[in-house]
Amino acid sequence: MGIPAEEIREKANAIRRQIAADRRALHQIPEIGTDLPQTSAYIKKRLDEMQIQWKDCGGSLSPKMTADYISAGFPKMEKETGIAAVIGRGEPCILLRADMDALPIREENGLDFCASNGWGHMCGHDSHAAMLLGAAQILKSMEDRLEGTVKLMFQPGEETGAGARLMVEDGILDTPRVDAAFGLHVQPTDTTGQIGYAIGVNSASLDTFILKIRGKGGHSSQPQLCVDPLMVMNQVYQAVNLLATREADPSAMVALTCGVARGGTAVNIIPNEAELHIGLRTLDVEAGEHLKKRIPELIDHYVKAWNADYDLTTFHTPCTLTDETLCSQLVPHIREITGPDSVHEIPAMTGTEDFGYVTREVPGMFAFIGAGSPGSAPLHSPHMVLDENVLPLGAAVYANAAASWLEQNKKA
Ligand SMILES: [Zn+2]
Ligand SMILES: [Zn+2]
Repeated sequence: MGIPAEEIREKANAIRRQIAADRRALHQIPEIGTDLPQTSAYIKKRLDEMQIQWKDCGGSLSPKMTADYISAGFPKMEKETGIAAVIGRGEPCILLRADMDALPIREENGLDFCASNGWGHMCGHDSHAAMLLGAAQILKSMEDRLEGTVKLMFQPGEETGAGARLMVEDGILDTPRVDAAFGLHVQPTDTTGQIGYAIGVNSASLDTFILKIRGKGGHSSQPQLCVDPLMVMNQVYQAVNLLATREADPSAMVALTCGVARGGTAVNIIPNEAELHIGLRTLDVEAGEHLKKRIPELIDHYVKAWNADYDLTTFHTPCTLTDETLCSQLVPHIREITGPDSVHEIPAMTGTEDFGYVTREVPGMFAFIGAGSPGSAPLHSPHMVLDENVLPLGAAVYANAAASWLEQNKKA
């Protein structure tokens, strides 16, 4: 006998105040990057209160990684404060994932529980962590009826693209070995409770290239004695933008943006250095592989052609994949919570989600859950506000998906 969805829904409704309190508490202590000391301390305290076993997961970043992230403009990151927790025992094992980092955005939405430290939970990761705590409480209350293990992944550093990778490298998918993984993301521009998912590739890969060009500075009246890094940067800028239109299949989704181009201080000075940050997103793995190889070739070519020098740092975040079989197993259990007409296939998103580090290792499913209404301020906006009615729904979706999947896949 499985665990009825009705029971899970009722339990979620019974703890809706607690889930909202967790969300608001996390909302007021937004932290960014991979090291979230206050946020992870709060999650651990709540897991302790529920008598759920947890351990730290993430560890230290290598000095090179720390230096690379600083050079890319991220906050200083030397360690990762991820948390892995387990409920139940034995095989099979399903992982539920929530990210918990905030953004360097000051919120301007007038909420009476606004953060005051200049950062904000404008991607809703506070709600993800709270919903997963809610699911944890529900699943713990029925632990002896679970047909396997639920592993909880509380992940920092999603917005830096490093968080999931570090937890995977630190063994989040091992002992017990994870057989399936499920992650939810709130969507304030969709009606509360509507679920959207895309099968196969459902978020873009992101390759970031941080280029520092070193020329030879001097007086602007004597360009012949200088190597102008701004001119070289301009040529690289044009070349990489043309690359996307000339060498990618037009049917492939490719978005290439140079979000940072800087250098120089005054009109009469040729500077020593210039910096260009190139971001390449695509849903097409083949196009991505090709352009990822060609961008450094073009950089090398143009910089050397003008006798300049350069440093190049690259970061990769893979596409997130939704496994068709897992999806067909989970969708009916999601529907049991949100209603028969509220689960839909949607187009893949051109944004990036670092849950891709998990879904390239194990069958995974990623879905959006509506938490507002059409026309609301979007994710990453300082005006973003979530409808908190999503909280018990999301907790119930997590819990029912996990409990039902374990029942469906239990070992004889
Ligand atoms: Zn985000
Ligand atoms: Zn997010």
